[in-house]
Amino acid sequence: MIRKTRLFTSGPTPLLPAAQFAMAAADLHHRTPEFRAMFTKVLAQLKDFIGTKNDVILLSCSGSGAMEAAVSNLTSPGDRVMVITAGKFGERWTGISKAFGCMVDVVSAPYGQTVTLDAVKKGLKLETRVVFVQATESSTGVRHDIEGIARLLKDAKSEALLVVDGITGIGTTHLDMDAWGVDVLIGGSQKALMIPPGLSYLAVSERAWDRMEASYNPRYYFDLRKERKNAAKGESAYTPAVALIAAMGAALDYIAGQADGDLREGSKKLVDNAETCAAMVRAAATALGLPLFAPGSYAAATTAILPPDGIDSGVIVKEFKSRFGAIVTDGQGEMKGQLFRIAHIGFFDYMDTIAIIGALELVAKAKLNLPGFEYGKGLIAAQKIFEDRTK
Ligand SMILES: *Cc1c(COP(=O)(O)O)cnc(C)c1O
Repeated sequence: MIRKTRLFTSGPTPLLPAAQFAMAAADLHHRTPEFRAMFTKVLAQLKDFIGTKNDVILLSCSGSGAMEAAVSNLTSPGDRVMVITAGKFGERWTGISKAFGCMVDVVSAPYGQTVTLDAVKKGLKLETRVVFVQATESSTGVRHDIEGIARLLKDAKSEALLVVDGITGIGTTHLDMDAWGVDVLIGGSQKALMIPPGLSYLAVSERAWDRMEASYNPRYYFDLRKERKNAAKGESAYTPAVALIAAMGAALDYIAGQADGDLREGSKKLVDNAETCAAMVRAAATALGLPLFAPGSYAAATTAILPPDGIDSGVIVKEFKSRFGAIVTDGQGEMKGQLFRIAHIGFFDYMDTIAIIGALELVAKAKLNLPGFEYGKGLIAAQKIFEDRTK
């Protein structure tokens, strides 16, 4: 059999063909009216995509660059900040905050669980200046309660800004930053937006813009105030990743096209799409007797699944690749060998999802020795979910 290589990873995600063509055709200079028109349009579209009235800043860097920009622009050395973490990306907040001289209070949950609001409440201090969290923790497939955390900060009359890494949350979970009072929401190009890595974006509240006036950590390339000034003129401060911006425009057009040109509605449909794909995979894994790693607080960005006792998840990852050309991911860091992850964020549909479940059954038959295994158990469970959710 031939095998087509297909990504089932939560970043990079499969590419939208229309975005690839737009990228190949993007032969333009960044100090021209043509670029300014495109950049201005994409920035406006990003607001609809995210669902915010806040200004959105687009940076030429991967998602971690935007995370660093949030820390360097909003904090000063010695600031007390809180990091809410339950995985590898949460730990990145701690690393960046420490690099910029912040005193970090870490509120954590074990891998595979979400951080409870109670723990956040206990960890919050009068002096907490910023709270950093992920909307979805891609390393474990867990979702955090951003609305609950935002409400808690409001109820406590905290002055802390709420900064949310939505890099795999945007496009997989309904987020209403303006209504909830999220101050910064961060996204990345290679996730829900179906284009290659290299761009990240931040929606920034007025409260956060005000904080930047007083904070004095060093920043140069990632100076958000400078980017905001330039963006108002349709430009970025330095040479931007022009081709990726063209691709992003095409992807946002495609998402709008899913809802008769209404990008906000299209964006919500993209979330529902990921939720359905995720529910199909959860049901299939459960029906086959494979436990979920995060049964209590699963995200729709990616599903983390446990192999049977005594089996290294690396075996499963390899089998998917060698027999089917399907790229699924192993656990990160200490979780390597202990779980595997199948993604649903971005350009995945029913056909992709049912196919990976079919492949999962063959992988299970060949390698996992599951008690009571029968072909079709996973597929039947997934079909029912799809039918129920798309009636
Ligand atoms: C992918 C990802 C990032 C950013 O990683 P980069 O490799 O820098 O793009 C950050 N947070 C989460 C939750 C992610 O999934």
